[in-house]
Amino acid sequence: MPLAENYDGLLIDLDGVVWRNHQFLPGAAETLKDLLAGGMPLAFVTNNPRLSPAEQAGILRKGGIAIDDGRVVTAGSTLFDFALSRFGPKPRALVVGTDSFHAQVAAAGIEDLTGSEPGSRPEPEIVLVSGHERFDYVEMRAASMAARDGAFLAATGRDPIMPMHDGLWPGTGAILASIETASGQTAVTTGKPEPAIFEAGLRAIGSPGRVAMLGDQIRTDIAGAQAAGLDGILVQSTGTASQTSDPSVTPDHRIEDLAGLMRAG
Ligand SMILES: [Mg+2]
Repeated sequence: MPLAENYDGLLIDLDGVVWRNHQFLPGAAETLKDLLAGGMPLAFVTNNPRLSPAEQAGILRKGGIAIDDGRVVTAGSTLFDFALSRFGPKPRALVVGTDSFHAQVAAAGIEDLTGSEPGSRPEPEIVLVSGHERFDYVEMRAASMAARDGAFLAATGRDPIMPMHDGLWPGTGAILASIETASGQTAVTTGKPEPAIFEAGLRAIGSPGRVAMLGDQIRTDIAGAQAAGLDGILVQSTGTASQTSDPSVTPDHRIEDLAGLMRAG
């Protein structure tokens, strides 16, 4: 019996499992199309907030995977839900992230104070941190000074690295570490392995009976899924040893790639 048939629903990581730098990995799109054709409820749960859920769903649809925007949950969308539930409507935020991340913040109904003149606007209530490639000292200084002055520090995640076409790039965790060091504050994070993002993924598929999370990073995808009461299936082929082994975590299954779901499990 194919491994997928053990489950009533699947949550699937994107980077390192479905694609790398938005280039589909071998067999991934075909497997996802087969799962959808068979009626499997599935949602994509990613710590990558550089693009919005709608933007990432659009790339999946271009690959022939017919899913709605609501089937992609990111550490960003989960972070915005957290900020709104903690501070109420229109929280004032200092934001570190991509241009898309800033646009997502505004679309979520959060006031983005980034770049405003000191003293000209209300102080931020929260600092929202997400990794991006043009992160610089000016952002680090603004974020860490706001956190030191009492703004709540929150981030999309602590992933130290992200898999890209030419190797492992520094992730949000590396940038966050600099802001935590400079501010003396410790951030709350909402991405995997925290439970909020898994709960959002389950809501997206209507919380069917038995659900597994597929991911390539054992400490975030697998440990987080198991803590949230889900099975964790480790996808090993694209990971490095440090991401796919941890003596304290035992995946429920290990497969070489997404197509492994269709083989006996
Ligand atoms: Mg991954």
